[in-house]
Amino acid sequence: TLFCLSILSSRAFAEDTDLAGAQKVKHNYQSDVARLRKIVIDSLYSHQEIFIRELISNANDALEKLRLTALTDKSVWNGEPLNITIKAVKDEDGKGGRLIISDTGIGMSPEELTTNLGTLAKSGTSDFLAKAEGQDNTGTGNLIGAFGLGFYSSFLVADRVYVASVPPKSEKVPSPVQYVFSSSADDASFEIFPDPRGNTIGRGTEITLHLKPDATEYLDTTKITELINKHSSYSSSFPIYLFTQR
Ligand code: ADP
Ligand code: MG
Repeated sequence: TLFCLSILSSRAFAEDTDLAGAQKVKHNYQSDVARLRKIVIDSLYSHQEIFIRELISNANDALEKLRLTALTDKSVWNGEPLNITIKAVKDEDGKGGRLIISDTGIGMSPEELTTNLGTLAKSGTSDFLAKAEGQDNTGTGNLIGAFGLGFYSSFLVADRVYVASVPPKSEKVPSPVQYVFSSSADDASFEIFPDPRGNTIGRGTEITLHLKPDATEYLDTTKITELINKHSSYSSSFPIYLFTQR
């Protein structure tokens, strides 16, 4: 189910957030990740819009994981409704903007941000790389369906991506810290640092896409609605709230 709502402002990750004091730790992408990211960015231009399906499916997985974890550790979730939120925030100059996709799911610790987003643990990835590198763009397009490109499809539409995340409070970890993963489309590295905003999420993950100049159509309510209905209406078992500016 998709609900559309109108907002005036948002506490989204802003470029002007003071990151100067943040203790950034720089990591290099594992070499396979660098290869995969290059393939994604270079050859899947005509499949730009799949990013929304991938990010919603990850949000969905994170919410399912929270529910599963709560079966054995009740302290992680008090049973409140679980949902996915998408916010479209236009820049003040009206030119560009951000798309912010959040979930109240299982979240990631700084170690998990590094491992899950900076390395490829998935089996079948080398197969994909081998096939994709030997193909033209049309062929690669067909491979997406077979493998799924996941998180890296963000870089099809974003020149910079911030992933802020915080795992649930639990008896083991009573006050988890919100961390940020930050990377630009042309970086061979990514940064991990404690979120200078503090814990703004509570629990889960907030992905901020700074849209490329040729991807600002994804700020449009009609466009996002159409894409969600096209790619994700059956794959999301949680409600999706779409906030756009008036
Ligand atoms: P896949 O979903 O096939 O595992 P992805 O590239 O889509 O591959 O995501 C990589 C990993 O990053 C996921 O397996 C998960 O561990 C982590 N991840 C991505 N998005 C989220 C999210 N919204 N919440 C928690 N973990 C996430
Ligand atoms: Mg995925």
